[in-house]
Amino acid sequence: MKFHEMEISKIEKALETDFSSGLSQEQVKHRLKTNGFNELDAGEKQSALLLFFSQFKDFMVLVLLAATLISGLLGEYIDAIAIIAIVIINGFLGFFQERRAEKSLEALKELSAPQVHVLRDGRWGKIPSKEIVIGDILKFSSGDRIGADVRIIESKSLEIEESALTGESLPVAKHIECLTNPNPGIGDMENIAFMGTMVTRGSGVGVVMATGMKTAMGQIAGLLQSAESQETPLQRRLEQLGKILISVALMLTVLVVVIGVIQGHDIYTMFLAGVSLAVAAIPEGLPAIVTVALSLGVQKMIKKNAIVRKLPAVETLGCASVICSDKTGTMTQNKMTVTHLWSGGQTWTVDGSGYQPKGNFYKNGQTVLPKDEKALQQMLIFGMLCNHSELTKKGEEYILDGDPTEGALLVSAMKAGFQRKKLLDEFTIIHEFPFDSARKMMSIHVKDKQGRHFIVTKGAPDVLLGVSEAILWDGKSQYLNKDTQAKVKDAINHLASQALRTIAIAYKPVPANTVILSEHEAEKKLTLIGIQGMIDPPRPEVRKAVAECKEAGIKTVMITGDHVITAKAIAAQLGILTKKSKVFDGEALSKLSVEELEEVVEDVSVFARVSPEHKLKIVNALQNRGHIVAMTGDGVNDAPAIKAADIGVAMGITGTDVAKEASALVLLDDNFATIKAAIKEGRNIYENIRKFVRYLLASNVGEILVMLFAMILALPLPLLPIQILWVNLVTDGLPAMALGLDKAEENVMKRGPRSPNEGVFSRGLGWKVISRGFLIGIVTLLAFIIIYHNDPKQLDYAQTIAFATLVMAQLIHVFDCRSERSVLSRNPFGNQFLVGAVVSSLILMLIVIYYPPLQPVFHTLPIAAKDWLLIIGLSSVPTFLLAGSFLLRKTK
Ligand code: ATP
Repeated sequence: MKFHEMEISKIEKALETDFSSGLSQEQVKHRLKTNGFNELDAGEKQSALLLFFSQFKDFMVLVLLAATLISGLLGEYIDAIAIIAIVIINGFLGFFQERRAEKSLEALKELSAPQVHVLRDGRWGKIPSKEIVIGDILKFSSGDRIGADVRIIESKSLEIEESALTGESLPVAKHIECLTNPNPGIGDMENIAFMGTMVTRGSGVGVVMATGMKTAMGQIAGLLQSAESQETPLQRRLEQLGKILISVALMLTVLVVVIGVIQGHDIYTMFLAGVSLAVAAIPEGLPAIVTVALSLGVQKMIKKNAIVRKLPAVETLGCASVICSDKTGTMTQNKMTVTHLWSGGQTWTVDGSGYQPKGNFYKNGQTVLPKDEKALQQMLIFGMLCNHSELTKKGEEYILDGDPTEGALLVSAMKAGFQRKKLLDEFTIIHEFPFDSARKMMSIHVKDKQGRHFIVTKGAPDVLLGVSEAILWDGKSQYLNKDTQAKVKDAINHLASQALRTIAIAYKPVPANTVILSEHEAEKKLTLIGIQGMIDPPRPEVRKAVAECKEAGIKTVMITGDHVITAKAIAAQLGILTKKSKVFDGEALSKLSVEELEEVVEDVSVFARVSPEHKLKIVNALQNRGHIVAMTGDGVNDAPAIKAADIGVAMGITGTDVAKEASALVLLDDNFATIKAAIKEGRNIYENIRKFVRYLLASNVGEILVMLFAMILALPLPLLPIQILWVNLVTDGLPAMALGLDKAEENVMKRGPRSPNEGVFSRGLGWKVISRGFLIGIVTLLAFIIIYHNDPKQLDYAQTIAFATLVMAQLIHVFDCRSERSVLSRNPFGNQFLVGAVVSSLILMLIVIYYPPLQPVFHTLPIAAKDWLLIIGLSSVPTFLLAGSFLLRKTK
């Protein structure tokens, strides 16, 4: 018999599991061993060997290898072997860079892999969905992605969207009854939830009946989601630029060769020099270095609790001009404690801290016993019953599983001595209408021991007031009139103005055995009992983060489902609300079109009592005003806004799978300050990429120009092919990588956001590349000419001097690249990787020059001490000129 036809009780046996305590660790271990991980097979991966060989498929590298082979055949063994060795080392470097980028992207995927709620050894916990085994008991609710194929054993208004499997986008209601049809289609299996489908409403529990490739999803291999393109706009731009640079480098190289030949150099020497120059000058490694820099930046972000799910977001982060953030949990601590309770004109306060269920109740400053306060009791009992969360004691600590708002309601009732388990002996919950942030309410249909039926509703007080017709006042139910309504509103405003989050409790009796079909039917004509007000303190670090964002030209907007006055109070505490800025509520927002909202949106800092669908409107209005918007969210309904935002941000702790999947960035700690940290890192990564683009290209320009000018001046070759290749490998490679790891300049968050349309060479980068490249070329040539003219017979020595000058000029210039301003504006030795890279390059250069066995390979001669003065003097000229012109501009 198949699982969809089986009674629930039989399934327990068939799968050798226990619905009340789940599998034991032993069973899990055994099942993992026999069935393997709950994974879908990924496609074939590129093997390491292929990746290594792909490093040599570049056309110019192949030409170089061919040319080298010819020179080897002509008897130039040493040159040939040395060049091939350098090309191979270069290949290895490229290989390791690409491997590293690939690995870190894979690690990222693992980190953002979904987690599931599982019952094992009698305890609910979270595990990566990869570790699910057959027989596991899973719990899921609105916004969760189902981790494996499960037979449903508990359903509370459960609805699941199965379009990934069936193509049908309307959600299907799921129940626990057996199906009689022996061979239903996937779309008709109403008691099964399939791997990869999404819970859109309600909640449920299921037992796993298939995992991995045995699931329905696993069987449709073609439907596996293909990986999204991870290329960032900058990578694309650099790739285009790369093509242009290749042509330019090739043209110049041809020019060098042609002029060289015209000036009387022999064709073969010029050919090899030209090809080496082309290999060195073409920045073919640039995209790989950019990827490495991006992925290193991504790793840095992980350390700051931000996971980048889409690589392009790293760049977009640096352009963000507005952050729209939720309040609860992101700007506040989400550790709620009820402190005030109001009912029928009376106010109670309660003390205690956190989830510790210990505290006393007071009225008018006097201690009172809850058992003497009828309305208070009623409010506490219903707040505990109409609740989805659980509080468990671990040692001395109380741990909450569920929504902190509901946790606070559990704790306030426990302080009065109530226990949910005992209440459930007295009341039976017949049906539940789950909370959603659009309705801002949750209701249950309950029956007490005397057989009386009630609807109990809890939710936003102003919303509940709108659907209530009566109120409990002095122990009696009275019709709500204008006067009492005004009193309730006053009470709500009074609580909210103290930055308290408010939840009202209401109820209504219903005739026994009626079936309440919809929440709309349940949530009307209620009797309001009272309001509980809870504190949710702001996170201490957020105020500073908001201020830093402001300084960086980034506006912070609070978007919350909470009450306008509560939101205002918290926004003011955090420095989001200023004298000039406005507060909008959901109702006002609904009345505006996107165009109308565009007119005013710049002035609004707080949107309160909004529904998730309003978020999309806000994103659109801000984007139409030219903003780059980061938008946070956690629920299913937030997904469209998260997707539409330039940087969709999902909460790692409270976020649903749907929100996470729509997002580009996940905050592991749900903290607003983490968004700021990620933006700072995003800006820095972009700047670092600019830094090494600047360094590499200026170096290449220098290398080409020294050869070109030498040919034009009818001089011998100032640098030999092997020397050029060496510079390309050592001097260009290592320091460029180190620039990618540079720390942010201290002003990185003190200037406005970058325009997303900014080109690679904007903000003077192009000029810097050309002017510095030109100077590096000139000083190298000058060093060569001076020595060569002194003694034209010592060509090797002049070439060694040119080689050393080029290397030194680049290694000094690399420190300029750390700052957009000048070398003087930062401590030049602040980046220890760079210092390390420069020192190693220097040592390697000295070895090549002074180590006798290598001298014939690189055609070098030991440099005399006095000539080092010339080399150092000339090679520091470009940096001095730059620093001087910067100082001059500053004093002007
Ligand atoms: P944010 O969007 O900043 O996270 P929020 O958490 O207050 O704000 P919602 O979760 O949409 O936004 O809640 C809106 C309102 O609904 C709250 O102000 C509260 O009054 C009410 N509410 C919140 N949680 C519940 C719940 N579990 N049951 C009933 N009502 C709730």
